[in-house]
Amino acid sequence: RNTFHFYDAGMQKEADHFVHLHHEILKGIEQRQFFLVYQPIFDVAARRFSKGEALVRWQHPERGLISPFDFIPVAERTGAIRPLGQWILQQAIADMQLFQQLGLDLQISVNRSSQEFNQSKVADDWLAQLSAAGLLPEQLILEITESVFMDTVSVQQSNVLSLHQQGVKLAIDDFGTGYSALNYLSRYPVDFIKIDKSFINHIAEQDKACALVAVLINMAKVLDVQVVAEGVETREQFDLLLKLGCDYIQGYYCARPLAKADFVSLVQQPQAF
Ligand code: C2E
Ligand code: CA
Ligand code: CA
Ligand code: CA
Repeated sequence: RNTFHFYDAGMQKEADHFVHLHHEILKGIEQRQFFLVYQPIFDVAARRFSKGEALVRWQHPERGLISPFDFIPVAERTGAIRPLGQWILQQAIADMQLFQQLGLDLQISVNRSSQEFNQSKVADDWLAQLSAAGLLPEQLILEITESVFMDTVSVQQSNVLSLHQQGVKLAIDDFGTGYSALNYLSRYPVDFIKIDKSFINHIAEQDKACALVAVLINMAKVLDVQVVAEGVETREQFDLLLKLGCDYIQGYYCARPLAKADFVSLVQQPQAF
């Protein structure tokens, strides 16, 4: 009985915390407490940064800078992810417009939670936003997780398919960490897979870790999917991935997530890794 009551109190506390955070997030959107940073992505063939990933940050008035790891999962559970995600895309599109005006030839990758594909109109809405900003759908990459293709919620899939049909690119984020079924790769129009950092961590010291990444890269080539390696932190990892034929490298070794102005100046410089 006692443990039941403890458990119950814990649950209530968690629920209160969620309700509180939910309201804080909505207030934060209104008060412009969120901002985007951009992590450059190195294009091996072009030998330059040709893409960037938009990553959200929360500058909270009392609690300081909060990591997305601490609020995205909550936002996904409370539904706050929809207004927040809407703000994120709107801001990313405004930034893309600026990058274009500066003459930069860039694709920008934006993270999407699967719940954001739940409303039937989102594909049309997002395409209209791109076109109003004078951008081509091809300039936007949406980072989704494998779960979008596993769930039976077909409205998510039809939105994803319709966005892709009109030119928006699709990347599978955290590839290999979620569902182990791979058959969706041959059935759905995936443009990029992003190999999760956990696969990259030990490629320089462990033959098996390296062999596994080699297999992932080769499989992607067979399926005509481009590969982005995530979380590349060392020269050794970078060199190995180049040898294995990886198409794109993202990680602290190349560049950290940067404020917009720093991102703009870095991507304009020639890179000699
Ligand atoms: P993610 O999409 O897998 O993003 C990559 C994360 O790895 C980012 O963390 C990035 O800063 C970090 N990272 C990049 N290179 C390295 C490296 O070399 N070493 C290490 N240790 N880390 C590296 P961040 O920005 O804290 O984002 C965490 C997660 O929060 C993201 O993981 C993504 O799942 C989520 N997230 C971030 N921004 C958004 C967003 O706008 N919308 C949604 N739905 N989720 C977001
Ligand atoms: Ca991502
Ligand atoms: Ca990832
Ligand atoms: Ca992720």
